[in-house]
Amino acid sequence: MRFGPSPGDASRFVSAWSDVAGVGRDHLRGGYSRHAFDDPEMQLRQWFAEQAQRRGLEVENDRNGNVWAWWGAPAPGAVVTGSHLDSVPGGGAFDGPLGVVSALLAVDELRVRGITPARPLALACFLDEEGGRFGLPCLGSRLLTGAADADHVRRLHDADGMSLADAARRVGFDPSTMGPDPARLATIGAFVELHIEQGRLLRAVDPAAVVGVASEIVAHGRWRLTITGQGNHAGTTAPADRADPMIPAAAAVLAARRALSGFDGAVATVGRIIPVPGGTNVIASAVSLWLDVRHADATVTAAVVDAIVADVRAEAAAEGCTVMVQRESMSDRVTFDPGLGLEISGRLGVPVIPTAAGHDAGVFAAHVPTAMLFVRNPSGVSHAPDEHADAADCVTGVQALADVLETLVGDINPAARHVGAGDE
Ligand SMILES: [Zn+2]
Repeated sequence: MRFGPSPGDASRFVSAWSDVAGVGRDHLRGGYSRHAFDDPEMQLRQWFAEQAQRRGLEVENDRNGNVWAWWGAPAPGAVVTGSHLDSVPGGGAFDGPLGVVSALLAVDELRVRGITPARPLALACFLDEEGGRFGLPCLGSRLLTGAADADHVRRLHDADGMSLADAARRVGFDPSTMGPDPARLATIGAFVELHIEQGRLLRAVDPAAVVGVASEIVAHGRWRLTITGQGNHAGTTAPADRADPMIPAAAAVLAARRALSGFDGAVATVGRIIPVPGGTNVIASAVSLWLDVRHADATVTAAVVDAIVADVRAEAAAEGCTVMVQRESMSDRVTFDPGLGLEISGRLGVPVIPTAAGHDAGVFAAHVPTAMLFVRNPSGVSHAPDEHADAADCVTGVQALADVLETLVGDINPAARHVGAGDE
């Protein structure tokens, strides 16, 4: 990087970070619960709009619940950076907001460097990246690019039975306009998302690296298994009379763990399981569980799901239960723009690593040159309250993002720059 972080950068980061750190804390689960269109997420949108306006950026909502802030009028060739404001239930502080805060601070850094972008630069926050409320991840980017059907999305429900359409209306968004936005997509010349690293690969590849560049996202998907049995009394129901859907559900959990050793490089997880009715002294009548499966190769991902479902079906047949399997989402392996990734990695002198975590950048990669920057995460923990990045590393991330954006947007008047004025 050409400019080292200064003490001023650190205080700017700490100040911006403290704005978001108090919003959406989950006192029950720990960490943060910020979900699409809920109060904390709307509060962060408001904060983002104010911060962008304070920087003289033009803020607008698009048709798909994403918010944009423009430096320069929207036009083809625009460089876009940003991330998401929502979290998983009880998630970490950094997943999403770090990319948004870094985008705002990168604008400050470009101004300190005296850059006047030759191309428009936009900051964006995308709707429901985690799918924590409506089940389908990367909603905003999928709707915008046409990767998700708007009718299907409008009908998605949250755990309280509220449809996405109603949730959108409740906070002033018109769900009827959701759908592909080719005109907006056509303005994007490049997309760069900065994100906290999820996992510890960066450290394994280069123990000194603070920042990394993503090469690819492995294939990943979510499946919902609904197992139906016979609700009954936990005390009085004889073994032969039981049709307990929790037994095949348990088989799913164990089969997912076995898949880790049975399929090289695959991961499979049951992280959510809902028994109906959910009473201590009640044999459940039905169990819903969600299976998350990931592997570099989509055909292996499918084979893992098949193997787990076969075990569940066998256990269900023995127990007298039925199984329904529904694929809720699937993302094929995504390779980020290799030219852009190599150029960034060379410019910053940082390693290139793959990831098994999904991102809006993965959706955009099918349409526009896309890159991701990762900021190291010493413990590797993510999607949990212990997720952490050091402030100094985040500042280095902002500098790296500014370097990348500076290259991509160009400077209208390079001669007029004050080089090195980095610590005002
Ligand atoms: Zn994220």
